[in-house]
Amino acid sequence: MRKVHKKTYNIRRVFGEVVRVSPLQFFLQYVLAVVSSVFLGLFIVQLQNVFDHAAIVVESASADGVWSLLCSLLILFLYKAGSESLEIANGYLGNDFYNRCAAYFLDLYNQNIAKMRAITFEENDNLKLYRNALTGATSARGMLHVIMDIFTLYIPYFLTIIFYLAKQDASLLAIVPLVAIPIFITNQIKKKNYQRLHKHTIHPKRKKEEYTKYLSEFPFLKEVRVKEAFRFFYGKYLCARSEYNKLCLSTNDQEFMLNLGTKMITLLGFITILGLLIERLATGAISIGAFGAIFYSLDDMYSLMEEMLISRIETYHKGLPALKSFIQFVNGAYTEQGEATGTAGRIPFKKMSLESISFIYPNTTRMVLKNISFTIHRNDKIAIVGYNGSGKSTLAKILLGLYSPTEGTILINDDPGIRSGPQNASVMFQQFNRYKETVFNNIWISEATGDESAGEQAKKIASERLRQINLNHSVHVEDTLDILCAREFGGIDLSGGQWQKLATARMLYRDRDFIVLDEPTAEIDPVSESQMFRLFESEMRNRTAIIITHRMTSIRFCNKIIVLRDGAVDAIGDHETLMKTSDLYYALYHSIEERYH
Ligand code: ADP
Repeated sequence: MRKVHKKTYNIRRVFGEVVRVSPLQFFLQYVLAVVSSVFLGLFIVQLQNVFDHAAIVVESASADGVWSLLCSLLILFLYKAGSESLEIANGYLGNDFYNRCAAYFLDLYNQNIAKMRAITFEENDNLKLYRNALTGATSARGMLHVIMDIFTLYIPYFLTIIFYLAKQDASLLAIVPLVAIPIFITNQIKKKNYQRLHKHTIHPKRKKEEYTKYLSEFPFLKEVRVKEAFRFFYGKYLCARSEYNKLCLSTNDQEFMLNLGTKMITLLGFITILGLLIERLATGAISIGAFGAIFYSLDDMYSLMEEMLISRIETYHKGLPALKSFIQFVNGAYTEQGEATGTAGRIPFKKMSLESISFIYPNTTRMVLKNISFTIHRNDKIAIVGYNGSGKSTLAKILLGLYSPTEGTILINDDPGIRSGPQNASVMFQQFNRYKETVFNNIWISEATGDESAGEQAKKIASERLRQINLNHSVHVEDTLDILCAREFGGIDLSGGQWQKLATARMLYRDRDFIVLDEPTAEIDPVSESQMFRLFESEMRNRTAIIITHRMTSIRFCNKIIVLRDGAVDAIGDHETLMKTSDLYYALYHSIEERYH
């Protein structure tokens, strides 16, 4: 096993890496945030000056007074302009920084997902973890941003306000909790009740959405129309809609009362603040300017307090599960590294011996392959046949080295030091991929590196493969190579059969001496299918090939057929022998014969 440098991630470490993506940008962004929020706080001080000077002008109408008023207005403008332009610069830096961080963590995610063993993708829990981890990869920066904003934006702003209020009159400090407490209390009440209220509407809402999908979305719509089921589903939709609307109506009433109640709490706080300000003004503790400035700034205080205590904290908490999944994923991935499949480098195929192989999918108990033993010699053509679910595809994945057997061993070239791996094989899966790329890219991906353009040799081989599969019965394959296989990007749509032919060209392009074909003609028309099997026969002549297919008449070129029954080998032999010795093979052969002839 390769020795791996183990790097354990936790939230603090992830945040540290966020900073390391661009320390200068990070530092600059939050320095700007502090200055901008202090400017925003100082605005209240300057506003008071403006009001005080305005009061003097109203009283004395002197030229000096007007001049001072203009000067203080100018400073007020500068504070506002300064705060807003710093906020814009901060946003600009923030966006760029966000994109860099997303790229960094997505790279980390991609590097790790590439190392995961193929079997791990067979577990639903793992798939859920990988999906959440992908979300978490981009949420780390946003979460650190919330924490940083609290310390560099909201706290400096409120500290400036607190200093200002304390300087005016210590009793005014009560304003801050009078703003904060109602926001906090109303949020707690809303959170508790909204969940309760909407719990009943979730189910009928989903039902309504599902029926809407059947009635309006392609491809549901196609079958619903053809089967004339529109009226049936429309009736169902109307029922679901009326149930949902009824529930919504009663929820709305309760929500209205709830909103009214919580608004009263906020209003109570606001009236108390107003009363306090008027009382202080009446007793001469604060000037009319201070009264106006504080009153004017209450809006800002409410919205910034709500942001700090509620929406930003919620953003943090919402992102937390995905970030934890990301951390669990990268930590897990590092321990997986040593178990990456296959021996490094390519090995010429000589022989593969399976000795008492059994296999159980992770987190299940059923043995899907049982005690399988056989040997594959160089240039063997082996067909694997059996009913659906008998374990053919699973066995193919084990032969490819994608999955390791639960029990038993696989000996390659009689060397226990060699482990099979996909690097030695060319494969065509039953569920092959349909890449929205050019025909050429769809063929040469196994050698394409992403940043290099294809050489002439690659084009020549791809053209030859394209000619062999007869994609669109066109003689001008060179014209076909550049066709984009995606109508939404300005190309064309391929049929299911054409996609499968393209996947065949891709498999053939990858020049390996060990080939695995899992139902390679399931989507192809009968004429093309016969051509394909002739192509397989000639291309596999000097290669070792494993083929899984229901087209039993097409596997006559195979020198060995393995018949699987419920995960175990029922019989092994050539066609003639099996027709005489295996009831299952005989039944399979005749049922397929009847279907196709
Ligand atoms: P075949 O190719 O012969 O149709 P498969 O190899 O696809 O059969 O499947 C063999 C058995 O393994 C089936 O019973 C199937 O339900 C089960 N199986 C396949 N994939 C999984 C999985 N990811 N987790 C658990 N069981 C699985």
